[in-house]
Amino acid sequence: MATKILIAQKRLFGDIFVCRDCSKKIRTQAVRVIARKVKCPKCNGKSFRPVKKK
Ligand SMILES: [Zn+2]
Repeated sequence: MATKILIAQKRLFGDIFVCRDCSKKIRTQAVRVIARKVKCPKCNGKSFRPVKKK
């Protein structure tokens, strides 16, 4: 069942995220973003959004 969640997350978020502050695109895993283990290399921000958001 954990696998199902991961697949769903992948479909929702993919692997690319965009920094909310500086729009820098980074490639990482969704779980790392949710766990806030990712830091923006440009502005050190920790809030990201999925790249496809409309
Ligand atoms: Zn940034």
